[in-house]
Amino acid sequence: MMNLTRQMIEIRSLLQEIDRSSETLKLPSIVVVGSQSSGKSSVLEAIVGQEFLPKGSNMVTRRPIELTLVNTPNTAAETADFPALKMYNLTDFSEVQKILFDLNMAVPASDAISNDPIQLTIRSPSIPDLSLVDLPGYIQVEAADQPPVLKQKIKELCDRYLESPNVILAISSADVDLANSAALRASKIADPKGERTIGVITKLDLVEPKVARDILLNKKYPLKMGYVGVITRAPKKSLFRSASSHDAFVAQQNFEYTFLKEHKPEFAECSTSTRTLKKKLIKVLERTMSMSLAPTAQLVQQELDETAYKFKVEFNDRQLTPKTYLAENVDALKLSVKNFNEHFGRSELKSILRSELDQKVLDLLATRYWNKSSDTPSDTRILIDNLSQLSDMKTEDPYWAKKLDLATSSLTKLGVGRLTTSVIADAIVSEVGNITDQTQLRNHPLAKEAVKEAAESVLNARYLSTADQVENCIKPYKYEVDVDSREWSTAREQTIYLVKQELQQCQDSFQALKNAIGGRKLSQVMTYLEEGGTAEETVGFSQVLLKRGREALFLRDRSTILGMRLKALKSGPCKSKDNKFKCPEIFLNVVSDKLTTTAVLFLNVELLTDFFYKFPRELDSRLNQNLSEEQIEQFAKEDPRIKRHIELQERKELLELVLQKIDGILAFQRSKSSLTSRR
Ligand code: GDP
Repeated sequence: MMNLTRQMIEIRSLLQEIDRSSETLKLPSIVVVGSQSSGKSSVLEAIVGQEFLPKGSNMVTRRPIELTLVNTPNTAAETADFPALKMYNLTDFSEVQKILFDLNMAVPASDAISNDPIQLTIRSPSIPDLSLVDLPGYIQVEAADQPPVLKQKIKELCDRYLESPNVILAISSADVDLANSAALRASKIADPKGERTIGVITKLDLVEPKVARDILLNKKYPLKMGYVGVITRAPKKSLFRSASSHDAFVAQQNFEYTFLKEHKPEFAECSTSTRTLKKKLIKVLERTMSMSLAPTAQLVQQELDETAYKFKVEFNDRQLTPKTYLAENVDALKLSVKNFNEHFGRSELKSILRSELDQKVLDLLATRYWNKSSDTPSDTRILIDNLSQLSDMKTEDPYWAKKLDLATSSLTKLGVGRLTTSVIADAIVSEVGNITDQTQLRNHPLAKEAVKEAAESVLNARYLSTADQVENCIKPYKYEVDVDSREWSTAREQTIYLVKQELQQCQDSFQALKNAIGGRKLSQVMTYLEEGGTAEETVGFSQVLLKRGREALFLRDRSTILGMRLKALKSGPCKSKDNKFKCPEIFLNVVSDKLTTTAVLFLNVELLTDFFYKFPRELDSRLNQNLSEEQIEQFAKEDPRIKRHIELQERKELLELVLQKIDGILAFQRSKSSLTSRR
């Protein structure tokens, strides 16, 4: 036997998944209304058989609770899911209560209510398949001290739920005059003919059975579906009173049963008991949903046609899943990385490291040799002066020899291992970034970050050991660096080129200053500074101008020195390695070259080979294997176009599924009715 209500509730949930806010794409539900203390919570809990609604004197429901009850005949446990929170199979209903409380309280009191419903699914062998909505703050409409805007907001929300074809479960307490029932008042507005409303009269035990009977007989405020009388809480003093939630429900059932039995004659012809109510709800919901099926199917078909058309036009019906999409992109990335590997070898390593070390050499030279101090003749002066008479200079001048030694060890001891390893690791990470930017992944910030982290983690794992190895291998150079003539002459050419470039840069910077300030003004401030002017006496020069002036002086002097050094480097004596201490630029260049060559050897083996082997695997693990489906979807959907593609496709598939299910039920109903009519 087909469980129709269950299937329709499933369809209802699917429709909600397709479009939560749709006014048309939906199947009816039972909407529960009742003023505070009418016993609304007790009725809902009696139906579910669990205490799960938050209580408390100031507990006002601020969000609708869309409650889906699923009968699970073959299981023992009663479980609850909050699908929107991705929380499933909760078995502790006090936790459910707490979550509901928190979700409610998350709506600021100043907003009064939120239109965003809380979805809660409860599965149990002892509950019927039902779909109920607990409407929020219903009674607040009547609360006097609320600003009109909020009242309007609450009213609109309630009206939307109370609309046809939803069934209204209007809860009133037997001990309150029905004329004063807020629930009935509201239902009468939404359902004036009383066709969709079921009246529930609670707390039968609190009034004379005769009074209750009068209400239940449906005379005064007639409803087509009539009233059901219930007792949903055993009185505190009851014999059946008990501690646990489960026992409380047993007590309630027993109390209700006994009470109704005792007053059987008075309640003759009346519809009473929680059991009766449940049965009625099942029947009414099934009927109402069934009636909505055919029109809903039509709407779903329309929606499907539209969606399928868009999907064809925009994406040419191309199927795409987040998983395959991401996998394809990771593959593309891996391919590019492979390509990078083929073009990134020793010579690339060498040129990256060389330019880094050359810069260090230039810095060293600048601090140790190319300084000019105006008072004392600096080392530079002497060197330059001596160099102008290079040929007269002693080959082994101890002062200059010592100085070169110191400069050399500054270079060899600067932590070449760490420096070169970092430089190469950074270069790889940045190149991986560039490569990523050339793939689709550029539109996925999260995925991009994951790629970067993958690269960093592979490199970091090797960083220390690589740095140590390199440092070890360059150790000999800390004591001695031998140079042969061929090395010397290559280094000399290279040095001349570098110093020329440095000189050019100085001159360019000087020119830029001149252009910015004006030639005359610049020479004025320079003269002023050279004649001993200080920053304090600002004779017509601003602080900024004085600063520029000092920069200009520096650049001018540096250019002069570089010019002289360039001449020296080109001159005869610097052609011979024997004059190394007169030509420190060349010697340091040789050292830099040797350090680089050695570092490259080890970086290539220790870092690069390892990286290119492990990185693709790390990518797979971070972007394929170790991700949950949601994470994969999150990655894929970062690109708005992919997001739309996936969502449109999902929508189409869901609509197809829903349509199939509805068609199935409709076909079943047709065959059933043709069977009965043949009989
Ligand atoms: P809500 O505010 O409408 O959700 O109402 P509750 O379900 O919290 O019930 C309000 C009060 O009425 C509580 O103190 C319940 O114990 C009590 N109550 C609920 N149903 C019954 C009932 O059938 N009989 C009696 N005597 N008290 C009930």
